[in-house]
Amino acid sequence: MSDIIQLLPDHVANQIAAGEVVQRPASVVKELMENAVDAESNSVTLVVKDGGKTLIQVVDDGFGMSETDARLSFERHATSKIKQAEDLFNLHTKGFRGEALASIAAVAHVEMKTKPEAEEVGTQLVIEGSKIVSHEPCVTSKGTSISIKNLFFNIPARRNFLKSKQVEQKHIIDEFQRVALAHPSIAFKMIHNDSEIFNLPSANFRQRIVGVMGSKTNEKLVPVKEETDLIKVSGFVGKPEFAKKTRGEQFFFVNHRFIKHPYLHHAVSSAFEGLLKDGAYPSYFLYLDVDPKSIDINIHPTKTEVKFDNEHAFYSILRSAVKHSLGQFNVAPVLDFEKDASMDPNYIQHKSNAKIPSLNVNRNFNPFESETKFQSKYKHNHQTQKSAPWEALYTGLNQDVDFDTKSSELVDIEVESEHVRGDLFHGNHQKTNFEYSGTFQLQNKYIITSTTSEMLVIDQHRAHFRVLYEELLKNITDRPALSQQLLFPLQLQLNTNEIQIFEQLKSSLENAGFSFSEIGKDFVKINGIPNKLPESEVSILLDQLLSDFDNEIPDSGFHQTDLLAKSLGQSMAVKNGTPLEKEEQTELVNQLFSCKEPMLTPMNKLIFVKQSASDFDKKFM
Ligand code: ADP
Ligand code: MG
Repeated sequence: MSDIIQLLPDHVANQIAAGEVVQRPASVVKELMENAVDAESNSVTLVVKDGGKTLIQVVDDGFGMSETDARLSFERHATSKIKQAEDLFNLHTKGFRGEALASIAAVAHVEMKTKPEAEEVGTQLVIEGSKIVSHEPCVTSKGTSISIKNLFFNIPARRNFLKSKQVEQKHIIDEFQRVALAHPSIAFKMIHNDSEIFNLPSANFRQRIVGVMGSKTNEKLVPVKEETDLIKVSGFVGKPEFAKKTRGEQFFFVNHRFIKHPYLHHAVSSAFEGLLKDGAYPSYFLYLDVDPKSIDINIHPTKTEVKFDNEHAFYSILRSAVKHSLGQFNVAPVLDFEKDASMDPNYIQHKSNAKIPSLNVNRNFNPFESETKFQSKYKHNHQTQKSAPWEALYTGLNQDVDFDTKSSELVDIEVESEHVRGDLFHGNHQKTNFEYSGTFQLQNKYIITSTTSEMLVIDQHRAHFRVLYEELLKNITDRPALSQQLLFPLQLQLNTNEIQIFEQLKSSLENAGFSFSEIGKDFVKINGIPNKLPESEVSILLDQLLSDFDNEIPDSGFHQTDLLAKSLGQSMAVKNGTPLEKEEQTELVNQLFSCKEPMLTPMNKLIFVKQSASDFDKKFM
C-alpha cells in the first residue's frame, strides 16, 4: 500500500484551529482586545457593526509592531509572549498560544495598520482567508488598528450558524465588559453602529465596575479583601438584598484574566447561604492574585477555564473572606449560629392579619320549600349540596349549624357559570359539571373551591400569572392595554446593556401599557404604567424584566413577545401571602377558567389540584 499521510497545508490547519478559537464575533473581540492589553496600551477602542457580522475593529495605542513582526504575527504559533516551555508557568500576558491572529485571518477579511513609537512609517497588511492581498508602508499613529470584516465568509455553514445581530451583540458586550473589568487602569471605549455605548476612563476597580454595570451598582457593593501567602483576594460582592434572579453579575478574575470556575463559584455562593431569596444569585466581582506558577491556563483554547494547584485552600479562603465582608458591613450576622426556627418571620407574619370567617346563617331556611336559586345550581348532586357552603362548615364548629342549612351568603355568590363552563370544557378537559361553590382562601395562598364532585385547590399566584400572561399576549400583539398616567414621571437608572435591551422592548412595553417620556443614555423616564400595576412595583418589575432578557435574548419576535408576557405576568401576578377579598377570589377563578390553558402556568407548573368526593369517601371509611 502506498503512503497516504500528508501534512495539512497551513491555511487548512489554520481554519481547523479557527474552529476552536473563533466561535463567533465575540471571540474575535476577546482576542483582539487581549492583544491590545498585552501591547501595554493606555486606551483601547472597539468599533462594531451589526453585532460584529459586518465589522469588528480594535484600535489601540500600544507598542505596535515592526514590519517583520506585523507579517509574522499572522503565522500560526507565532508569538512574542513566550519563548520556551518554562515560560508557560510564568505568564503575565493574556495571549501566548500564538494562534489567534492566524485563526482569525483564516476565516475573515483582515486589515491591520501598526507602528511602533520609534518608527516613522507604519505597516499596512491586508489578508483574506490566510492569503496576503497587500503589504505596504502606511501613515498611522503609534499602536495597532485591526479591522475584521466578513467573518466566516469562506465557511458558509458557520456564518449561517451565527445568531441574530442582537444576540451576537450581547455576546460582544459580555466580552468587552470582562476585559474592561479585568483592566480598570486602561481606558476603553465601545462604539456600536456609530453610537458610543461605553466610554470608560482609566479608573480604580470600584469606579470601573460602576462604569460598566451602571451607576446604581455603587450602593450595592460590599468590599472584600484578604491577603494570604497563597492568594490575594480583592473586589466586591453585591449586597444580598439586591441579588437578582440571574447569574449575569458574577465575575472572577485571576491575575487579570476573566475565568469561569464552578468550584470557586460555589465557595462564594456558600458564603451567601441563608441570605438570599429563593432563586436569587449573588453578584460578585472578585479579583484573585496568585503565583502564575500555581495555575494552569492552558487547558482550554479560550483560556476561560483554568486549574489551580491549591483549589481547596482557595475555596476556604474565598468563602471566609466573603463571609467576613458580609458580616463586617452588617449585611449578615457575623456569628453563624444554626438558624433558630422560632425566629423565622414566616411564623409571625401571618398571625397578625388573620381574619375570622364571618357568616350570616339563614336560620329560616326551609329545605322543603320550592327551588331556590341556590338549589337549582347545586341540585345535580345531593352530596355537594351538603358540603358546598364551606364557611358554614367552619362556623358550624361553634355555632350549631345544621350542615344541610345553606347560608344566605352563598345564595349571593352567583358565578357566571355559563361562561366558565364553556371555556373549561374546551379541548382535553373532561366534561364535568363545573359549577363551583363559594371560594375561600387558605393561608393567603390557595383559593379553595369545589365543583359538584370535586374539590379544587388553586395556587393564587400561579392562577393570576396564567391570566395575566394570556391577557398580555393579546395586548402586545393586537390591542394595546389600558395605561394609567403618572402624576410625577418615574426615573429608572439603567446601565448601557440594559438600555440596549430596553430599546428593543420599548414598543412591546408600550403595548403592554407603559409609556415613556424620555430615554437617556443611562435612564428612562416612565410617565404611564399598565392599569393594574402598583406604581411602587414598577422599578422592581422592569429591573427583573431587563435581567430576564439579558439572560435569554430571544431570537424571534414571537419568542420576544412570549418572554415579555411571561416576565411581566410573573412580576405583576398577585403574590402568595396576599389576602384576597371574596370578589377578587371569585373573579380570579372565573378568569382562570376562561383561559386557554387553565391547568398550567406559562412555565408549565401546575395551577391547581383536584380531589374528588369519592377520594374523600375512601378516607372516611
Ligand atoms: P498571542 O497573543 O497568543 O501571542 P496572537 O495571534 O494573538 O497570539 O498574536 C500574535 C503576536 O502578534 C503577539 O504575540 C504580538 O506579538 C503581536 N500582536 C498582536 N496584536 C498586537 C497588538 N495589538 N499590538 C502589538 N502587537 C500585537
Ligand atoms: Mg493574542
